[in-house]
Amino acid sequence: MVKPVTVPSAAYSIQSDEIFRLMVTSVFDYAIFILDPEGRVSSWNLGAERLKGYKADEIIGKHFSSFYLPEDREAGVPSRVLQTAIDTGHFEGEGWRVRKDGTRFWANVVVTALRDEAGRLYGFSKVTRDMSERKQLLDVIRQHANELELRVAEREQSNAELEAFAYSVSHDLRAPLRAISGFAEALEEDYGSQLDAQARDYIQEITSAAGRMNHLVQDLLDYGRVSRINLPLEPVRLCESVEEAVHQLGKKPGKLEVNVPADIMLRAHAQVLTQVISNLLSNAFKFHVKDATPFVKVWTEPRDGMVRLIVRDNGIGIAPEHVDRIWQVFERLHDRDSYPGTGIGLAIVKRAVNRLNGACGVESEPGKGSTFWIEIPRVTEENTP
Ligand code: ADP
Repeated sequence: MVKPVTVPSAAYSIQSDEIFRLMVTSVFDYAIFILDPEGRVSSWNLGAERLKGYKADEIIGKHFSSFYLPEDREAGVPSRVLQTAIDTGHFEGEGWRVRKDGTRFWANVVVTALRDEAGRLYGFSKVTRDMSERKQLLDVIRQHANELELRVAEREQSNAELEAFAYSVSHDLRAPLRAISGFAEALEEDYGSQLDAQARDYIQEITSAAGRMNHLVQDLLDYGRVSRINLPLEPVRLCESVEEAVHQLGKKPGKLEVNVPADIMLRAHAQVLTQVISNLLSNAFKFHVKDATPFVKVWTEPRDGMVRLIVRDNGIGIAPEHVDRIWQVFERLHDRDSYPGTGIGLAIVKRAVNRLNGACGVESEPGKGSTFWIEIPRVTEENTP
C-alpha cells in the first residue's frame, strides 16, 4: 500500500528525483532504506518505521545489524549479507529479523550495492518485506504435507503387511485343500458304489468347492507375487507372450483372431506379461452372451514410445458406472453361477502393468462387447542397458 503523497499541483516543476524520493519515503508495505558502506542506516522510509518500529531519528546512524537476532549477529550474518552484495551486486534472502520492541518477524530482504559511475561503493539499498503471514501459512501447509506423508507411509506399510499375510495364508491353505479334494476323490472311487445319489452329489459339491477355493488361492498367490517379486525388465517379444497366453487358454469356446507383428519388442517381464494377456483373453471368452459364439480379436497399435495391445470381444459388455471398480480385488459384476471367477484377474492386470511401467484400460458398452487394452514401453536404446 502506498500512502497518498501530497504533491503540489505544479508537480511537473518538482525534480524527478524529488518525486522518486517522496515515493520511496511514503511506501508503506516495504521497509526501504539506505545503508552507508559500513552498514549504518542513512535513510529511512515510512514502511521501515512501520515494520521495524524505529523512528528515523532513532535509527539513522545506527548499524543495520541491530535488526538481526543476537545469534545471527554473533554468527556474522550481517557482514556476510553486505559482502555478498559487494561481490555479486546483490543479496536476496529470507530470515528472522527483530523489531525495536524485541518481537520477531519473518523477512524477505533484498540488498543491492550502490556504486557511482567510477564503480566506487557508496552504500547499499535495502528493501525488506514482512512475510510472517505467508511463512505461517507455508509452515501449516508443510506440517500438513508431512502428516500426510506419514499417513501414506503407514498405510503402505499396513497394506504390505496385509498382502504378506494374505500370501502366507494362501500358501498354507494349499495343503489342507489338496487333502480335502484328495479324500473326496478317494471316497467317490472307493465307496461310490455303496452311496446313494444324494451322497454322491454331496461329494461333487465338496470337490467343486475345493476346486473354486484352489483357484482363489492360486489367484491370490499370483496377485501377491506380482507385487512382491523383483521384476527385472528385459526385452520380450510380444507375439511370443501372446502365443503362450493362447496356449495356456487351452481349447477355446469360440473364434480367436490374432494380429501381432513378430518384430515388436517390449521392455517387460515375460512371465508377468503372459499372465496379463492370459487374464484378458480368458475374460474375453468367459463373459460371452449366452448362446452366442464368442469372437475375440487381438491386435496392436503404436503409441508414443509404447505399444498398445488390444483385446476386443463380442461379449456382454460392462455398464459405464462399473468400468472403474472392476480393476479392484474381489470386484465382480456377476454371481458365480452365471460366470465363475474370483474377481482377482483384472487386479493382477492392473498391478502388473503398473510394475511394467505401463497402463491399462477398457472401453465397453453393455451388450456391445468390450475392448480391453494394455500399453507397455517398447524397447528403445535409452531403456535398454
Ligand atoms: P473374474 O473374471 O474372476 O470375475 P476379473 O478381475 O478378471 O475377475 O474381472 C472382474 C469383473 O470385471 C468380472 O467379474 C466381470 O464382471 C468384469 N469383466 C472382466 N472382463 C470382462 C469382459 N471381457 N467382458 C465383460 N465383463 C468383464
